[in-house]
Amino acid sequence: MSRYGYLPGLSEGISRREFIKLLTIAAATMGLPVGFVKKLEAAVKSPMRPPVIWLHFQECTGCTESLLRASNPALAKLILDIISLDYHETLMAAAGKQAEDVLYHMINKYEGKFICVVEGSIPTKDNGIYCQIGGKKAIDILNDVGNKASAIVAIGYCASFGGVQSVDPNPTGASGVLQVMKDKPVINVPGCPPNPYNILATLLYVLTFKKIPELDKYNRPKFAYGRRIHDHCPRRAHFDAGRFAKEFGDEGHRQGWCLYQLGCKGPVTYANCPTTQFNDVGVWPIGIGHPCIGCTQPKVGFFLPVKFKVKPQEAVPPEQFPPITVKQGKVTVAGVAAASAAVGAALGAAGVIATRLPDKREVDHEGKTKES
Ligand code: SF4
Repeated sequence: MSRYGYLPGLSEGISRREFIKLLTIAAATMGLPVGFVKKLEAAVKSPMRPPVIWLHFQECTGCTESLLRASNPALAKLILDIISLDYHETLMAAAGKQAEDVLYHMINKYEGKFICVVEGSIPTKDNGIYCQIGGKKAIDILNDVGNKASAIVAIGYCASFGGVQSVDPNPTGASGVLQVMKDKPVINVPGCPPNPYNILATLLYVLTFKKIPELDKYNRPKFAYGRRIHDHCPRRAHFDAGRFAKEFGDEGHRQGWCLYQLGCKGPVTYANCPTTQFNDVGVWPIGIGHPCIGCTQPKVGFFLPVKFKVKPQEAVPPEQFPPITVKQGKVTVAGVAAASAAVGAALGAAGVIATRLPDKREVDHEGKTKES
């Protein structure tokens, strides 16, 4: 059977099986039922794909590189084929004046209709002189392009929150897109790099539903960044039981215990890393023994030293403990005894957890409190 013939508009290299599999994963990432896969497929096959201008500023190009070198090349193909990529400095053949002409031709031709994707932070100090392309300052390019776009998607930690270059003393005044473009719809897809499935799902959502997805207070799509890593971490049972790796390579580390004492930022970081994972082989930082560095959370990733311990937002008893609110029925001696046991067990469990929590908990999820 032909691999490509029945996927009009899509480039070579994606079989229908791969295509449907990727759309199914994207639907799951968005929290949509499988029935929506057909709707996504129709949107992807539409000849009216939104033009995209992809800008690069202060960054390492790691977001694009990790996307292009994904272990599943069909994923990158699908992302790049969903959109009509009209300008991308890493991928396009044009250079110099030819490239600049393409950029300004496209933003004028598709004013109000194209999506602007931004990778990298924007220097704002000293009138933004620290990043210039073709003699133009990054902040001016972003204003030129962003103000004519229908929406802006900030890819990666740098474009979303300023990146490592915005850590004190932040010599260039590196800022995220949202700090510069205050009047445009901006979707942040943070991560270092962001999970390609989150990029795919975000673009697919905009393409399919013709609107931006529901965002949290940091402008991240809730479907991908609405849950805390700590709450879905396979090492969570060890956290609750007080079993911590103390050093890399020690017995606890080899046993797969909780990485909190090694500086894991999972308790204050929101992302779908534990469930979506990376590279289609089920790996992610905590899964391979490295603490989460919080690269999806403002003022956490890169801002806090690796071994710095964050403050867990709350400690809740594990689900296997009896619930602490039990519906009241007819009171019997046996019932009172059972309820007392349940409440006692829950309170006892909470107490045990509280006493087992490590004691240096000085930074909240916005990085506001100080180290003890
Ligand atoms: S502290 Fe980190 S490793 Fe431990 S349970 Fe939470 S997210 Fe997982």
